[in-house]
Amino acid sequence: MLKCKDIAAHASEHVDGSLGWRASLGYGLHLFVCGYCRRFVRQLRTTIACARVAAAKDTLAPDEARKIADRALERAAGH
Ligand SMILES: [Zn+2]
Repeated sequence: MLKCKDIAAHASEHVDGSLGWRASLGYGLHLFVCGYCRRFVRQLRTTIACARVAAAKDTLAPDEARKIADRALERAAGH
C-alpha cells in the first residue's frame, strides 16, 4: 500500500488524471483509508481551481468566475 509521502509526491498526477490504472487504484485505496491525504488532495484541487480563476479572471464573466469559485469551495468543504 502507498504511504502518505507517495500520495504527496504524485498528487499532481492524480489531480491531472495522468496516473496509470494500477497507480490510480493504489492511490484511491490510500485515499479511502487516509483522511489526511484526502484533505491534502482536496486542498490541492481547490488551489488549482483558484489559480485557474485568478489566471482567467480578466476573460471570464463575473458570474462564471463566481460559479468556478463556488465549486472549488464546495469541493474544499467535501461536498
Ligand atoms: Zn495518507
